[in-house]
Amino acid sequence: MSTASEFAFELELCTHLETRREGIVARQLGASVADPGGRILDVVCVEPGPEFDDRTAITSETIPDAAIESDVGPGRAQYWKDAVPDDCHPDHARRAVDRACEIGFFERERRKGREYVRQVARYPDWYGRLVGVENKPDLGRPGDLESQLRTDVSLALVDEAILATESYVTRAHLNRIPDEVGVWRVHRDSPAGGEADDALPSLEIDVEVIREPTPLPVDEPGIEPLESRPGRTDIAVVPPAEKSRARRRIAERAYGKGWRTYEFPGCGACEPTDPADAGATLPYCEWAGRLVDANSACGPSCPGYEPAADSDEIDLEAERDRRTPWVADPTGKRRRQSGLGRFE
Ligand code: SF4
Repeated sequence: MSTASEFAFELELCTHLETRREGIVARQLGASVADPGGRILDVVCVEPGPEFDDRTAITSETIPDAAIESDVGPGRAQYWKDAVPDDCHPDHARRAVDRACEIGFFERERRKGREYVRQVARYPDWYGRLVGVENKPDLGRPGDLESQLRTDVSLALVDEAILATESYVTRAHLNRIPDEVGVWRVHRDSPAGGEADDALPSLEIDVEVIREPTPLPVDEPGIEPLESRPGRTDIAVVPPAEKSRARRRIAERAYGKGWRTYEFPGCGACEPTDPADAGATLPYCEWAGRLVDANSACGPSCPGYEPAADSDEIDLEAERDRRTPWVADPTGKRRRQSGLGRFE
């Protein structure tokens, strides 16, 4: 669970990265293979691959892994049970097929009471490098930082691992984290700086590169630490094929989820930022003088809480569609049911 200041830091960094990097920025994505959920990356940047536009044309959602792994191609329709990988549990397979149909990656037809499915398009080669960023605004409160970064380097699921901090970075700090990890020092506008100005802060940040990251060997086996006990750490060796699949899951999850996953508090003190100034509509609290996490910081028990008058609906998906290469509502890929016979 991030602190209030880590939450604000993360949203400001995502805004900054979105305006300066091509591809997709997302936050809070699982990045373990052997121990699902064991490692969550704060921010992931997915760089575009050669067929990025083909991916945006299929669906705005995350495509389930089982549907991508399946033998279903864009040509001949197959009986759905024959289409999913053998190692897939039937319930999971059913859910993946239903989901793939719902989001428009598969289309289905019935023949003699049986359901057949096919892909609406070949799964494209749409992503390039993955960059994982660990946010630690205050290096004086490092938590599990060292072991998290050691895991990122030994597993090498992302192409680059970066530590982003607001702290002054000393030689001792650098010595404690793996050499491969890049280090960014983030300089933030101080919204609570006491300036007699009613305007909302721009929340603009500068990123100073203290150390460049070293590319990680994503095509080689990785070592994932599992449980640690005194004097002993269990590990899993993760083969390249499993890493490649996990990387695709991360890229897909990033594409479907993005980083605008926050909510706005129903409180009169919240004055959302203007995307024209701040780069995104963010939940800025005038009382706290910073961005707030509506799910953890807000509610009637907060001393600054004011019952909110009805406010305009904020459409973060529309904003993501406008400001990034992600496409909210791609059209034209799903073939009409009446035309299915042509492919048999
Ligand atoms: S509930 Fe408190 S922290 Fe949340 S927006 Fe209102 S004043 Fe700010």
